[in-house]
Amino acid sequence: AYDVLIVGGGPAGAAAAVYAARKGIRTGVVAERFGGQVLDTMAIENFISVKETEGPKFAAALEEHVKVYDVDIMNLQQATSLVPGKLIEIRLANGGVLKSRTVILSTGARWREINVPGEREYRNNGVAYCPHCDGPLFKGKRVAVIGGGNSGVEAAIDLAGLVKHVTLIEYGDALRADAVLQRKLHSLPNVTVITSAQTTEIHGDGKKVSGLSYKDRKSDELRHVELEGVFIQIGLVPNTEWLEGTLALSRHGEIEIDARGQTSLPGVFAAGDVTTVPYKQIVIAAGDGAKAALSAFDHLIRSSVS
Ligand code: FAD
Repeated sequence: AYDVLIVGGGPAGAAAAVYAARKGIRTGVVAERFGGQVLDTMAIENFISVKETEGPKFAAALEEHVKVYDVDIMNLQQATSLVPGKLIEIRLANGGVLKSRTVILSTGARWREINVPGEREYRNNGVAYCPHCDGPLFKGKRVAVIGGGNSGVEAAIDLAGLVKHVTLIEYGDALRADAVLQRKLHSLPNVTVITSAQTTEIHGDGKKVSGLSYKDRKSDELRHVELEGVFIQIGLVPNTEWLEGTLALSRHGEIEIDARGQTSLPGVFAAGDVTTVPYKQIVIAAGDGAKAALSAFDHLIRSSVS
């Protein structure tokens, strides 16, 4: 059995693996896709001390760092359930069962897509999901934010300070964000809010985004906006479907953790985008992965005495 078994091989899982292995304990990482979301990212400019890198390069560096240590990496394996006990079991889609004294869950999250033509084609070439990551790339340009909930309105306020103009597009007939955010949004001179609007297509010149079309849901008319960027803010979905009913999840499906990364199950810790920790970023996921590994180690030394 492992001392620490990490499920998920993104920045959180990789950091947890390095921290656990450096304690000289038996460490394994099982991941559907080692590297995680950064594999789908182009420029990364906010991982402190690395001025600029590319997602796939960063993912390769994560793996290289983990491989310095004696860690079992089980890539391309999907966990399908967790069974609590003195030895915690992780069951895999291939029928395998892994056992460990502690488990760190770091299965990450995925951005909800709007599924319109152009979205996939122009991803990273005008279509973006993270204003903290990609906002500065659109300095002085025109962008749209799709989604009028808290994250969409926060993104629009954030971007309005960087870009030339922001068009906020909401499907429903009113914004759903907190009133204080809506007031702030409406006070900004370079923001236009369009409600009852269904985005139908993101257009481009073959290389990058040049505009979007939406249907006015009241008149059924098709309208067009010219712009250089589209931020899609309709939700981040945590990869916890396989854990439902096993441990405490928030109403958004995120794993609830305390300040040490402890979940509602003894010996089970969690880190990164899959948890309730706010602000989903690489540097935050990595820090929390380190924290969860140290908490798991602390749990092990306390439970081995009794
Ligand atoms: P993830 O990176 O999501 O990794 C999850 C891991 O778990 C993966 O290995 C996955 O395969 C695995 N997994 C999932 N389910 C299972 C399962 N059932 N069984 C086994 N394994 C499983 N952040 C920044 O800080 N800067 C940026 O510039 C930036 N740009 C981004 C651009 C894009 C396009 C995207 C999508 C995200 C970007 N982010 C950026 C966010 C950043 O990528 C995430 O915050 C970070 O990757 C979270 O790390 P994580 O380890 O928690 O999860």
